[in-house]
Amino acid sequence: MSEILDVWIGKSIDCACGLRHEVPIRRIIIERDALAQVKVSLSVIRENAMGEVAADEEAIVQVMLDTPLSSKILLAVGAGTVHDIVRFVAHRTKRPFLSEPTAPSVDGFASVGAPLIVRGFKQTIPACAPEAIFADLAVLAKAPQAMIAAGLGDMLGKHTSLADWSLGRVLLGEHYCELSARLTLEAVELCTAQLAEIAQRTDLGLLRLMEGLILSGLSMLLVGHSRPASGAEHHLSHYWEMVLLQQRRRALLHGAKVGVATVLMAQRYQALQGLTADEAAARLAQGHVPSELTDAERIRQVYGDMAEMVIAENFPANGTAVDAQALKARIAEKWGDVQAIARAVPAPAQLIAWLEAVQGPVTPEQLGVEPELVEASLQDALFVRNRFTNLRLQRLL
Ligand SMILES: [Zn+2]
Ligand SMILES: [Zn+2]
Repeated sequence: MSEILDVWIGKSIDCACGLRHEVPIRRIIIERDALAQVKVSLSVIRENAMGEVAADEEAIVQVMLDTPLSSKILLAVGAGTVHDIVRFVAHRTKRPFLSEPTAPSVDGFASVGAPLIVRGFKQTIPACAPEAIFADLAVLAKAPQAMIAAGLGDMLGKHTSLADWSLGRVLLGEHYCELSARLTLEAVELCTAQLAEIAQRTDLGLLRLMEGLILSGLSMLLVGHSRPASGAEHHLSHYWEMVLLQQRRRALLHGAKVGVATVLMAQRYQALQGLTADEAAARLAQGHVPSELTDAERIRQVYGDMAEMVIAENFPANGTAVDAQALKARIAEKWGDVQAIARAVPAPAQLIAWLEAVQGPVTPEQLGVEPELVEASLQDALFVRNRFTNLRLQRLL
């Protein structure tokens, strides 16, 4: 039982944002020996040719073959990847699924989408949220340090994803939910308030980190998309992941990449704070004016085999194109708001201190991402998702 999370169980809210929000999860247990509260039979997902467990076709078929037709319910025991495999199989075989996280490494446990690698491409497939989550603190305490650090990295990314969402709200009139944004911020603050406890893996530290991760997942469930919890820091992370996959290099932990990318994006928010309205207006007048034509050309140059998929994401057939000149005028007009959004992002040095407190990587070098890849991602990761972020703002300046 968790006082912080229990109030959200099965909740349905007619929100001030205009949407009706539903939380389909019926039970969340975070305590020692939580696993004793469920009964299981096993499918152990095998490693692929790379020696990794990946959420890909092979793993999905294995779980389907291992699941007796008589099974009523599936239980995911593992971290993010295992959850994505089971979430997808449960959804497609019309069975409910339960979650038993073995590491507090990612905020995707409570989410609906399953990021899967299909024919070498990563895509998020709509699936289902777990009916219940059983997080055993004794199991979480034995997770590798890198996975605990990754969980904190994924959480710190909320600072920049929330800022990106605010930019979309102010500059493009994007739908914004105060409740979901507030919960996401509370989720990350639950964690940063207990960093020493998290570093020492105490029950309180692990409880707060797990609560933060699940609460962030709930805030995504409320709005039905990942906007509150995923901005440019995630787009950088996805870009690195896709390049590593293409080059057949070992995968990196999602939250480790997000943590490092959050520092990079916070540096870019800090740079915005230093630009006066006059300087911004001058840059907007001179800067690059992207168009669908130039963007599509660029995407074909850098995304290779994936280019058509990326173009479809950026320019959906039924979408309305954003006029770059009108957007520039809007940015100039709203520069005070942009600066206020930038000021709300913690300083890069603060983010680095938080990551270091749990021994997480803070630079691309420590992560094993080379400078050329960082540079390429800062240019082109904005195309990963058709979503307004600080990367999309900065290329207009
Ligand atoms: Zn994430
Ligand atoms: Zn709302």
